[in-house]
Amino acid sequence: MAPAQPIPGAIPVYEDYARCVHCGLCLNHCPTYRLWQLEADSPRGRIRQMILVNEGQVPLLSGFVEHIDKCLDCRSCETACPSGVEYGKLVEHARARIAAEYRRPWFSRTMRKLVFEKLLPFPERIATAAKLLRFYQRSGLQSIARGTGALKLLGLADRERLLPRIDDEFFFNKLGTTYPPTGQRRARVALFAGCIANVAFSKLHESTIRVLTANGCEVVVPREQLCCGALAAHAGVGEAARDLARRNLKAFHSGNFDAILTNAAGCGSTLKEYHHLFAPEEPEYARAQAFRSLVRDVTEYLAGLGLSAKLQRVASRVTYQDSRHLLHGQKVREAPRQLLRAIPGVEFVELPYSDICCGSAGIYNVTETEASLALLAEKMEYAKQTHAPILATANPGCLLQLRAGAELHGTGQEVLHVVELLDRAIEK
Ligand code: SF4
Ligand code: SF4
Repeated sequence: MAPAQPIPGAIPVYEDYARCVHCGLCLNHCPTYRLWQLEADSPRGRIRQMILVNEGQVPLLSGFVEHIDKCLDCRSCETACPSGVEYGKLVEHARARIAAEYRRPWFSRTMRKLVFEKLLPFPERIATAAKLLRFYQRSGLQSIARGTGALKLLGLADRERLLPRIDDEFFFNKLGTTYPPTGQRRARVALFAGCIANVAFSKLHESTIRVLTANGCEVVVPREQLCCGALAAHAGVGEAARDLARRNLKAFHSGNFDAILTNAAGCGSTLKEYHHLFAPEEPEYARAQAFRSLVRDVTEYLAGLGLSAKLQRVASRVTYQDSRHLLHGQKVREAPRQLLRAIPGVEFVELPYSDICCGSAGIYNVTETEASLALLAEKMEYAKQTHAPILATANPGCLLQLRAGAELHGTGQEVLHVVELLDRAIEK
C-alpha cells in the first residue's frame, strides 16, 4: 500500500484527525505509553482528547494540558502509523491552542515567556546567561551547591545535572566566517549554528567544519542567523517561531549554497518545515519552500556526497541512538549508520530500541524531569548491553542527555556525535 500523502496546510483539518483509525499499532512505539500504560498518554488517546476539545465536548483544562505536556513530540507514533497520521502537526496545534487559551501557573508562564520570547531570539542575552552559568560551573559554586545538598532542598538536583557545560570560547565569535575546503571544492555549504549550541557545543561545530572542509566543502557560517525557533514552535509559541524563521530566511538568502547544513536534528526538522509557519499567501511561504529544499542534516548530506577524506582506524565497538527528530521527523535512518560503518576499525552494533526517545526532547528533561529520567534509565540499560565503549548520536540535545545518563548509570561510555567520531578518524 502506498504511504498516505501529507494533508496540506499547517492547521489540522477534520481529515487529519480522521486518519486515526484507532488500530493501536503506535502504542508500543510511544515512550510515554510504554512507561505508564495509560491510554490517555498514548498517541491514540491524545488524538481522541484533541478531537473532544476541538469539538467542545471537553473543556480545555489542566487534565488535557497535562497529557499533551507529557508527550515528547518525538513522532515515533508517526513512523509506526500505517494510516499516515501526522501526529507532530496535531500536537503542535494542540500546544498552540494551550498557549493561547490556557492560563498556566505563574512560574511556568513566566519561564516560558522568558525563554522563548526574551532569551532565545537574542544572541547577546544567550551569551550573558551562558557567562553566568559558566561562572557557576567554574567558580566552585556548583560543587558547593551539589555538596551541601542545597539543590536537593530546592528540588533542582536532577535538573541541574542535565545542564550543558558552557564552553570556554563561544561559537558566536565565528559567525560570519568562511572556511575553505581542503583540496578541490566539491560544494559550497552554509552551517546553521543554532542558539544554545553557540555556547555549549562550539567544539561540535568545529568538528563539523573540519569534517566538511576535509571532504571538499567550503563552509560559510552566515553572520545574521538566529535560533531556528524549534523550541518555541514545539511549545506552541508560534509568533516567536515565525519571527525567527523570517530572520533566518533573510540571513541565508542569496548565499548561493548547495546546501544548508545542521548538526542538530531538532533544528533540522523545524528548518525543513519552515513553510508550516506561514500561510501560502504570505511572501515568506515561497521563500521557506526554497529554503527547505536546501536544508540537510550533516550526516544525510555527507552520506549523499560521499566521504573523500582519508580515514584512519578507530578500533572500537560503536552503537547509535537515533535522534527522534532525525529518524521520525526527517526520516533519516541509514545515513548516520552508513558514516559510522565507513570508519575503518569500527564494529557497529545496533542499540535495542534505538528508535525510542532518550527523554531529552527539547526542554522535556527540564519540564518533565521524572519521566525523562525514567526513559534515560531504560536507554542506558540497553546501551550497557551493547558493550560498546562509544555511544554515538546525531543531535546536541541527545548528546547532553546521554552524557548525563552515562555518568548517572556508570556505563563508562563515551558519548559522541557522529561527526565528532568522523573528525577523530580523519587523518590530520
Ligand atoms: S497507529 Fe495511527 S491510526 Fe493506529 S491508533 Fe496510532 S495514530 Fe491511530
Ligand atoms: S510524539 Fe512520542 S510521546 Fe507523543 S504520542 Fe507520539 S510517540 Fe508518544
